[in-house]
Amino acid sequence: MPTIAALTEKVRAGARLDASEALTLYRSAPAPLLGRLADEIRARKHPERVVTYIIDRNVNYTNVCVAKCNFCAFYRPVGSPDGYVLGFDELFRKIDETVAVGGVQLLLQGGHNPDLPLEWYEDLFRAVKARYADFKLHALSPPEVIHLSRLAQLPAPTIIDRLIAAGLDSIPGGGAEILVDRVRKLLHCYSKASADEWLDVMRHAHRAGLRTTATMMYGTVETDEERIEHMVRLRELQDETGGFTAFITWSYQPDHTELGGREATGLDYLRTLALARIVLDNFDNLQASWVTQGGKVGQLSLAYGANDMGSVMIEENVVRAAGAAYCMDELEIVRNIEDAGFAPKRRNMHYEILGDPFCRERDVPRMLELATAREDGDHHVPDELLNYPARSRAGKQIRILPN
Ligand code: SF4
Repeated sequence: MPTIAALTEKVRAGARLDASEALTLYRSAPAPLLGRLADEIRARKHPERVVTYIIDRNVNYTNVCVAKCNFCAFYRPVGSPDGYVLGFDELFRKIDETVAVGGVQLLLQGGHNPDLPLEWYEDLFRAVKARYADFKLHALSPPEVIHLSRLAQLPAPTIIDRLIAAGLDSIPGGGAEILVDRVRKLLHCYSKASADEWLDVMRHAHRAGLRTTATMMYGTVETDEERIEHMVRLRELQDETGGFTAFITWSYQPDHTELGGREATGLDYLRTLALARIVLDNFDNLQASWVTQGGKVGQLSLAYGANDMGSVMIEENVVRAAGAAYCMDELEIVRNIEDAGFAPKRRNMHYEILGDPFCRERDVPRMLELATAREDGDHHVPDELLNYPARSRAGKQIRILPN
């Protein structure tokens, strides 16, 4: 087995670690050394000491989901009184609010709702692009694409092509969890997408010309080996396509979930982030997940390999449902970046720099808590939903007896 000193030298020489070398380093290297190695790689890739972030809004268009992953506290089953679908007008209002604070895109993801056919998404995307020509749609993670493919009985590449024609700009890397089928079966998310299916959607998206992100949710039932297998599979696809812009990892949030358990510690997060920077040698950008770790660990991430603070996200629903409710507006993100010794710059989804902080150009009101998809107790059914056929019995009833 190679020594930590030999592996340190190998990483410093810019050589690639295989899975067993990465495991040895992960298990045996002290956290400060892992952090130093990751920081050196970050400095090689981003010598200009800039840390980027994006202003966008994380909107969950529906919480109705048939997948029922056991780690998820966000979804509601079909027919639940707490289930919702956002109307086009509600989404336009959210975009207006996002644009007003300098936002450039919507991160749009939702449950696998059997009553939203492909045409609903196409009409929504076209309507957004008709109103906001320059606004970007970073939308529908691979399992949502697979869900639509099954619903419409069309191959996933056809779904991607149709969504691109309607206005899709990029696919978020959600739903990856851990890309090992043993883990996916234990988390009840194998049927929504196996590891191969998730990777295949990204492969098709990259071939169709989209750039996408990649994620990893750790801290459930996976082993250290499986965390590394996940990273190696992403690295292989990135070698093949070069289509990933960034990697984002966060820890499982256990509150209100069927799976339960405990949240991973901050140190585990920092070690995992640093390992990702070392293993994912062909990824340019690593985000700090302050949404799950809080601002302080988010800031420390900049010393453990991250070069991006993710999103000033305005709205968040999924992580909040599982107990994490951190909020940082642009001013707070900028303060954390500068205090860590970096220059903050706004970016777009392709990690191109858009400029200095928006809040220094305009008077933007402080945001002290993140918005939600809908007010609690608001059960209204959007009018346009009645134009689309439902698959579920509950959905059919709603179409007969609207509001
Ligand atoms: S994680 Fe996504 S797919 Fe799984 S139950 Fe929650 S909303 Fe549905």
